[in-house]
Amino acid sequence: MESSSSAGVRFSSQGKSAERSILRGNSERWVRAIAASPGIAIGAAVILSPQKGTPAAQEAEPLDEWQRYQMAVEALRAEWGQAREIAAAEAPAVVPIIDSYLRMLTEATLKERIWKAVAAGSTVERVLQQVFEPIIGRLRRSSSVSFQERGVELEQVFHRLLSLLQQQRLDYSRVAGAIVVATALTPSDVLLLHRAGAQGFVTAVGGITSHTTILARSLQMPAVIGLRGAIGAIAEGDPLVVDGYTGVVVIHPDGETCRRYERHRDSTEWRRRILVRFTKLPAETTDGRRFRLMVNLTSMQDVEEALLVGAEGIGLVRTELLPLQLGRLPTEEEQFHWYRQIAERFYPQPVTIRLFDLGGDKYSYEFVPERNPALGMRGIRFLLARREILRTQLRALLRAAVMPNVRLLVPMVSTEQEVFAVRHELEVVRQCLAGEGILYGERLPFGIMVETPAAALIMERLAPLADFLSIGSNDLTQYTLAVDRTHEMLAELYDPFHPAVWRLMVHVVEVARRHGIPVCVCGEITAHAQATELLVGLGVEELSTMPAAIVPLKHRIRRLSFREARRILLSTLNTGQEGLTI
Ligand code: PEP
Ligand code: MG
Repeated sequence: MESSSSAGVRFSSQGKSAERSILRGNSERWVRAIAASPGIAIGAAVILSPQKGTPAAQEAEPLDEWQRYQMAVEALRAEWGQAREIAAAEAPAVVPIIDSYLRMLTEATLKERIWKAVAAGSTVERVLQQVFEPIIGRLRRSSSVSFQERGVELEQVFHRLLSLLQQQRLDYSRVAGAIVVATALTPSDVLLLHRAGAQGFVTAVGGITSHTTILARSLQMPAVIGLRGAIGAIAEGDPLVVDGYTGVVVIHPDGETCRRYERHRDSTEWRRRILVRFTKLPAETTDGRRFRLMVNLTSMQDVEEALLVGAEGIGLVRTELLPLQLGRLPTEEEQFHWYRQIAERFYPQPVTIRLFDLGGDKYSYEFVPERNPALGMRGIRFLLARREILRTQLRALLRAAVMPNVRLLVPMVSTEQEVFAVRHELEVVRQCLAGEGILYGERLPFGIMVETPAAALIMERLAPLADFLSIGSNDLTQYTLAVDRTHEMLAELYDPFHPAVWRLMVHVVEVARRHGIPVCVCGEITAHAQATELLVGLGVEELSTMPAAIVPLKHRIRRLSFREARRILLSTLNTGQEGLTI
């Protein structure tokens, strides 16, 4: 264990990547792992954890062992049956998962294997260890995230069986108002704990893409997972704070920490309570046209806000803010951690990471004066001129893309060649990572930003090269109208409602529809109340906006009719203009 000291705060690490621990004063202890489900929970710990020790094998009597096993299976089956009923009413998506667990438990070959080993004189615990651990190990070492998660889930089932074998059943009456600390929890545990009034949970194992995590998020139950030392570090009855926003768990918080977290919880809870009715509703027009409302992420602070307002993903991560804030280029590691963290927080919703859009008005860390910066070395042009920067970012992105919800977006495209060049670099980087044995995501949806008139007008050629499109209406307005978006004297001419801009957008959406690819609009116009009807009429699938605009935007969408909005868009564009077919 290494430790260092800073301003009376002692940091210690046990060499585990996800976990960090800070000791403050005599008793307050901060540990940090994976933020699985947002929210703040404050309460006493209730421990649910099996002892892994196995009774001596020579004392095992086969029929007794077999009976113990059958009783544990029955107990688990009863628990899951109850959870299944709750799931059917509250979280139908979990029902098939519980069914698959039930099938696994009663699977004939598994039963036969266990019986044979028990008959040969082994304890059930030892047999379960022999059966489950190699499979769990193989799955967890797999390069596929979904296999890794299945490994985590199998581990959860395994631990649950061990608990039941040791007669450890959770007394649900004890968990009301408490925070459950467990080695592992299955989705059905989470349902039952939620029903029993548990405030939140901390687990030693668990993955961000696991069904347990997804369920905790949908039940709005604060959770921190992957805290490997949780069981040893936290004792029954310990006062805890669980910060599901940052992954921090405070053990024995002092009065000041408690008050600070209570204030944080109360203010977010107050807003959440007001918003909750609304965040659960879909962004759907009166005639059933559904939109995905996402957030443009400009800083890590936006993450919490985006979760609170019920954003359905991140439509744009402005990654250039990293070099601009740091005053230097971020390393591959820094980028990887940032991208991965965001992807984890939003899983399974999409997270769209845009390549650095440096240049134009966003040029500061490496200032190269340009006569005409908006028309100069900006976005993908800059990156293709500085391939080492592009490759580092692509490496970080591909590594983060082990999270299946990561998408890549290329800014400032104006030619097909730029797209070919990025795709080529992506391939080169992929091969390098494979050669170095570094884990990366096989699947990385490729998006093109449409923010130059050129890109809009060659859409027939660009669309086949993309998995999705994102219309950057801020720049599309600037370049279509030849008006500098930052020029205070031209503010009146900078008009995102100009029909020329909308005609380009309509064309892009039409071509994209023919090619079967989704389109997002991510410029500031999405936050403009008067634009909502036109955006709805445009017929895009996604809108990405600032966090504060999500709720009012959804509210407006829900009052509109798509048919009517489309009619209005068409008549607006056709007014005084030659025939426009859309
Ligand atoms: C846009 O141009 O509309 C956009 C979303 O990108 P940015 O504002 O970051 O240039
Ligand atoms: Mg732009």
